[in-house]
Amino acid sequence: MSPSISSKRATKTSTMERAISPPPLRTTHSSAKVTTTTTTSTYRLSLHAHPTQNPSWHQPTHTLMVAHYTSHHSINTTSKPHPAIDPATPSKIAAFDLDHTLTAPKTGSIHSQSATDWRFLYPCIPTTLRNLSATGYKIIIFTNQGGLKPEYVGMFKAKIAGVLAEIDVDCIVYVARGDDRYRKPRTGMWGVMRGDVGGDVDMEACFYVGDAAGREGDHSNADKGFAEGVGLRFYTPEEFFLGEKPKVEEKESSGEESEKDDDGHLDSNGSA
Ligand SMILES: [Mg+2]
Repeated sequence: MSPSISSKRATKTSTMERAISPPPLRTTHSSAKVTTTTTTSTYRLSLHAHPTQNPSWHQPTHTLMVAHYTSHHSINTTSKPHPAIDPATPSKIAAFDLDHTLTAPKTGSIHSQSATDWRFLYPCIPTTLRNLSATGYKIIIFTNQGGLKPEYVGMFKAKIAGVLAEIDVDCIVYVARGDDRYRKPRTGMWGVMRGDVGGDVDMEACFYVGDAAGREGDHSNADKGFAEGVGLRFYTPEEFFLGEKPKVEEKESSGEESEKDDDGHLDSNGSA
């Protein structure tokens, strides 16, 4: 993370957001260091679990999948809880979109064509996430996958397993498969995550990184809208990982999303 990057809070409410969703619940804070609590827990995951599968997958609803990955470091050091899971310490959430934020297809196509058709968007990404985890951040991924057909779920899970194994930090991945309250820019996935993580959250320390920022050429502003709805600092991948300053003004969203969405990653071409 570049310390030089200033927080950029969204100042516009896009046409798309207004069109597809009621105003999301916004976390408000009135002091420099604020903690919030939630009552939206549907189930609880321990970041120190020893899943028989890594990641372990859960499906709280038919439109939401959750993957819980436990790093090898955590598996081998269970006697020393990570500061991030100390219930007395408000959680710090480092949240990321997946496609075209952390990863991109190796083939150069818009969507991955197989479980191994991915690369990190920037080489520094694994190290950056490991450093965040080492300083007490919980690493969370929120991804829209509305185009994920049932026959490709296995390949998608294999892709996620590969990505998480390469990064190898404790991580929870939330996958929105429908067009409901979980789909970004709506904030349902954040609410579920808050229930899973539990305890207080230091909202001033939290942030979200995504490529759908409503810039010229972006397929949507779903990521920026999500951060705005939750009340998170927002960065594009270029700003966060490369330290670039924002250089393109936000455009007014048409409310339509192009095919370069996270969705469709397993489209009619078949494989993940
Ligand atoms: Mg994306």
